[in-house]
Amino acid sequence: MTTFADLGLDPKVLSAVVDAGYTSPTPIQAGAIPPALQGRDVLGIAQTGTGKTAGFVLPMITLLGRGRARARMPRSLVLAPTRELAAQVAENFDIYAKNTKLTKALLIGGVSFKEQDALIDKGVDVLIATPGRLLDHFERGKLLLTGVQIMVVDEADRMLDMGFIPDIERIFQLTPFTRQTLFFSATMAPEIERVTNTFLSAPEKIEVARAATTAESIEQGVVRYTASRKDRQAKEKRELLRAIIDAEGERCTNAIIFCNRKTEVDIVAKSLKTHGYDAAPIHGDLDQSQRMRTLDAFREGKLRFLVASDVAARGLDVPAVSHVFNYDVPSHAEDYVHRIGRTGRAGREGKALTICVPHDEKWLTAIEDLVKKEIPRVESPLKAPAAQERSKSDQTGRKPAEDRSPAAHVEEKPATGSSSSRRSGSSRSKRGGGRGRDEPVVGMGDHVPAFLTRSFKPQADRAEETAE
Ligand code: AMP
Repeated sequence: MTTFADLGLDPKVLSAVVDAGYTSPTPIQAGAIPPALQGRDVLGIAQTGTGKTAGFVLPMITLLGRGRARARMPRSLVLAPTRELAAQVAENFDIYAKNTKLTKALLIGGVSFKEQDALIDKGVDVLIATPGRLLDHFERGKLLLTGVQIMVVDEADRMLDMGFIPDIERIFQLTPFTRQTLFFSATMAPEIERVTNTFLSAPEKIEVARAATTAESIEQGVVRYTASRKDRQAKEKRELLRAIIDAEGERCTNAIIFCNRKTEVDIVAKSLKTHGYDAAPIHGDLDQSQRMRTLDAFREGKLRFLVASDVAARGLDVPAVSHVFNYDVPSHAEDYVHRIGRTGRAGREGKALTICVPHDEKWLTAIEDLVKKEIPRVESPLKAPAAQERSKSDQTGRKPAEDRSPAAHVEEKPATGSSSSRRSGSSRSKRGGGRGRDEPVVGMGDHVPAFLTRSFKPQADRAEETAE
């Protein structure tokens, strides 16, 4: 087995790696580091969680150890699609370069130009940036890219999704033709292939896991769910999410909850908070300092649930996420792979549960086609369908499910022990006063066989649920 010592890294880098607690290189590191150290271009096809950041940062530090920074001319450049990812690369750089004197600057939106300008003026070895911000600095005449010897493009497929490819091409053209390029992407879309054919020179190609594969250490499941009424779907879905979280109990130490839309991210986070769950949102519309604060709290274990959009969460390195909950089935199948890749990282066990409403079935099919396996269907922890829940509350005058505490929902979980007896003891007798077609049988007092007091409608709902 390859060890870090076999890779040809600078001893200062090796000791930082030991301090980071890594015992052996991951496959992308073992594959990318030696050719990178030889000065070759590298095309790494790897998703986040594979250790790819160290795969390019470690050789970069080793190579840069041999020269000195010059004013306004960074010697290397790392491009990342989002602010968080860029900040994460910067953190990695600090860890691995701690025994060296190398300097870095982070150019991302939401951080003042002034401070970064001062660093660049002095001269930095490594510039870590998002493409738009880098070009802003360049256009202000504050930066020269002609000294770039090593250029890294990280998460190129996400750059493509975000429309950054023209910026990347422009940046490539601003750097010297003789530069070394380390290029990473989870997938090789035709557009990415074109860019690599144009700007990389005879790269060493390392593919560690296809984007279409999901780690074996992740237990996956889909909870299919049909709303009792269309206009109640959102509310019932949030209720289902809480029930799913509750059903995981203490196994769920922390989780990322993914939503397809930013507005939904806010609503779900707010709703969870209202119900006493420790949750906060993260998406592109929140200001940078707030995003950083939320992310730090989540990383440090001070925040249990991070509710996120795909763009905000892409590539986030959060070492120990026990669960990923997909509040929505992602509309791009590859996002599913990325989302669930937030858990089960570096061989740890993880669990990913996805809520699927009928409208999202087509996306679920696309995901299963992509990953080439069926995602197991798991039973909804909401034994009583939300419709039944509501019909009870309508008749008893209790607050609707959405407004009650999470503890109340535990009573609605599969019939076990005291919670089931509580349900039959209170809810059923209260239902005795019901009216209308869907109401339970009434008028026989308390000595009625239990089955006669049940509503037929919810039973039908239950049958439907099992049939799905
Ligand atoms: P990345 O794919 O770069 O986002 O890295 C995912 C996680 O793996 C990070 O938390 C790294 O600290 C960790 N990591 C990177 N290299 C190794 C290694 N050789 N052994 C163990 N963990 C690693």
